[in-house]
Amino acid sequence: MTTSNAEWTARSLAHVWHPCTQMHDHAGGADANIPLIPIRRAEGIWLEDFEGRRYIDAVSSWWTNIFGHRHPHLVASLKDQLDTLDHVIFAGFTHQPAVELAERLVRLAPPGLDRCFFADNGSAAVEVALKMSFHYWRNVGKPQKTRYIALTNGYHGETLGALAVGHTGLYRDTYAPLLLQPIHVPSPDCYQRAAGESWEDHTRRRFADMEAAIAQHAHETCAVILEPLVQCAGGMRMYHPIYLTLLREACDRHGVHLIADEIAVGFGRTGKLFACNWAPQKQGADGITPDFLCLSKGLTAGTLPLAVTLTRETIYLAFYDEHRSGKAFLHSHSYTGNPLACRAALATLDVFEQQDWMARVRLLGQFLWSATAALRSHRHVAEVRQQGLILAVELARRPQTRQAFAAGERRGLRAYRHALAHHRDFGVLLRPLGDVVYFMPPYVIEPREVEAMAKIACEAIEHATQDD
Ligand SMILES: *Cc1c(COP(=O)(O)O)cnc(C)c1O
Repeated sequence: MTTSNAEWTARSLAHVWHPCTQMHDHAGGADANIPLIPIRRAEGIWLEDFEGRRYIDAVSSWWTNIFGHRHPHLVASLKDQLDTLDHVIFAGFTHQPAVELAERLVRLAPPGLDRCFFADNGSAAVEVALKMSFHYWRNVGKPQKTRYIALTNGYHGETLGALAVGHTGLYRDTYAPLLLQPIHVPSPDCYQRAAGESWEDHTRRRFADMEAAIAQHAHETCAVILEPLVQCAGGMRMYHPIYLTLLREACDRHGVHLIADEIAVGFGRTGKLFACNWAPQKQGADGITPDFLCLSKGLTAGTLPLAVTLTRETIYLAFYDEHRSGKAFLHSHSYTGNPLACRAALATLDVFEQQDWMARVRLLGQFLWSATAALRSHRHVAEVRQQGLILAVELARRPQTRQAFAAGERRGLRAYRHALAHHRDFGVLLRPLGDVVYFMPPYVIEPREVEAMAKIACEAIEHATQDD
């Protein structure tokens, strides 16, 4: 039986092609020595490798694992589901987990989103929203609406449609000749605000560009797509929720859909169940209702792949007609509505009901803010920013002028390696986005574990920013 880390790593490198990875980085040698870590088991916030070393999963395994690994209720629910119904074709057939999940999501989502279309990953949920929006306009007699408006620095996934509306050069540039041409509007990213300017003022100022783009292109535009409050893959860049309020108004005025991609920030990450709920309103409760809401990642709390695109009944009804009308949405994935995945999502929603997790997320956010206090005056930290239980640390060569480190220095990577390997008792899994080191831990992390995680990360940042 194979039991050592080295053996599993070697076997993985022999036949597996890992995602988002220059595989040569794992080859060993002077500038290609990023470890590939084989994980044997996981529990709560902890990952454990084949030699018993443990790691705090500070990024919730790519932002999915919101209640920690192997949460007992999720494990029990999945075992039960496996004894009942594994999978069934979802066209012409339906089942209890999908029906109950749709009912519960509609109750929890911003009011007015009454229809759920399931897919099996976030990129697919974005594709569904893009196609549905275009197809809606076509069905109501506006086939000239064929374009999308999106933000610079946005990220919406890796399939060609989702990649096209994204704007993270690293992932997109290579494929540019293959992609749709959206209208990209400057992001309200508050890292770029002027000295002394408030988040809200900067965000409002940037909205002027969006307003102008919508006014100019409404006749040819299906939808605006964005990540509410935090552009996660784009370096955890954040903005004020007033943008969502203003955008909702502008989309209504000009007859353009609003697609909210909450694949990363949905399910409580920002301290409210959905980031759209933060949008300030002068009257009534805060929050906006997008025309499409894309959810995935936290939906099954890191157990099984599942995604959903919620939309309005009015949009659904534009497809609802006699068969010969040809208006149906003929989109499917083999695993659409998979019962196991839906049951995992139901169990996730059960866990949400067990306690006031949003209060906990906000409290943990405060602990995290205190635990990283030293970084706010660090000589190579340009900004520490936070929304709920996302805290990001922007490393820079010269913080005063926001001059970045040269990309080739791979400072973030140095921090990554140090946090994994240096501390004697355990490591911390950070996975910096370039030179942005961030924390996005499971909501079950304890305050003392927040401190331990932050301490190791601070040491890693100190190490990574030392002069060569
Ligand atoms: C991760 C992510 C996606 C893509 O989801 P996948 O499941 O990785 O395809 C889309 N949008 C946002 C905002 C994401 O963070």
